[in-house]
Amino acid sequence: MEPSRAEPSRPYRWPVPLVDLRSDTVTRPTAAMRRAMVAAEVGDDVYGEDPTVRALEEEVAGRFGHEAAVFVPSGTMGNLIAMRLVADPGTEVLADADAHVVTYELGGAAALAGIQTRTVTAARGLLDPGAVNAALRPAGWGTVVTAAVAVEQTHNRGGGAVHPLATLRALRAVTTGAGVALHCDGARIWNAAVATGTELTTYGACFDTLSVCLSKGLGAPVGSLVVTDAARAQEARVLRKRLGGGMRQAGVLAAAGLHALREHLDRLAEDHARARRLAELLAPVLPVCAPETNIVGLRVPDARALAAAAAEEGVLVGVTGPGVVRLVTHLDVDDAAIEVAGVTLRRVLSTVAA
Ligand SMILES: *Cc1c(COP(=O)(O)O)cnc(C)c1O
Repeated sequence: MEPSRAEPSRPYRWPVPLVDLRSDTVTRPTAAMRRAMVAAEVGDDVYGEDPTVRALEEEVAGRFGHEAAVFVPSGTMGNLIAMRLVADPGTEVLADADAHVVTYELGGAAALAGIQTRTVTAARGLLDPGAVNAALRPAGWGTVVTAAVAVEQTHNRGGGAVHPLATLRALRAVTTGAGVALHCDGARIWNAAVATGTELTTYGACFDTLSVCLSKGLGAPVGSLVVTDAARAQEARVLRKRLGGGMRQAGVLAAAGLHALREHLDRLAEDHARARRLAELLAPVLPVCAPETNIVGLRVPDARALAAAAAEEGVLVGVTGPGVVRLVTHLDVDDAAIEVAGVTLRRVLSTVAA
């Protein structure tokens, strides 16, 4: 029997209603996704023999209009491999100061790839092409050489903010002009595409490398892909193996990813609508920015106190700073859950932490 979708996976007092808004990574595979996983044809992918992994890689590469894609266990590994593809040890990657690659990847670029990251400040994580241009350091200056720029689309700590296409194209022009690569941490690029109606191929054309996640809003249990050209993809397979990311009968995971792409991409619009509804419910007690995608950021006096009080009431929220709480909508949060969460958080905010 399929376990109940509402059953808590953590030791919260059941049957307190549980709405988990910490992240869109908390989704569990649906019954249909599990059936696709069970039915997957598999082989040894380190030998290149898993037909379902190959199908996923071809599908994702095609969707972005690139030559190739490489299936990796996580977005963190995807970013690390992609950055290493475009930056040699002893060079730098420029990113915004709140980027996932400089905040949540535990220094992997430096520790594992010998890459220095340098940051530029950017409102809501949205890079300004002029500021990036001014920060680039070409070879021959006796300084660390800027090998690549990393853009986060959508921006996680920026509250799901979307880089406008015109900004991406300007970044492409600036980097191409300087002979610098452009990488996209596209963990949630799907959300940007759905929110703006931009084709994935249009985004794909802006970047040399992308790392895209299946395990966020798309609802797969595991998996990301590095999307790039054929030559770099070959190198990516070597880097992945070196990092211990070679997976054997990974078709069971790739099948979940294929199912997610086919069934869960368009429905991201529902997550966006629910995020807007959540913001609307909270607006009377707190100034909230209208969310562009599936993330609502809240500025509160004491984020931990708020999270603890909300958890007591069965609503789990993310803490991303001492005074910042993050609410993320996803596949496992329906309209009713949003109403429950909104009312609960409003009560908690007005009594406990506000
Ligand atoms: C989640 C996320 C990643 C990758 O995270 P993993 O947990 O390693 O899969 C990368 N970038 C951003 C912006 C993310 O939100």
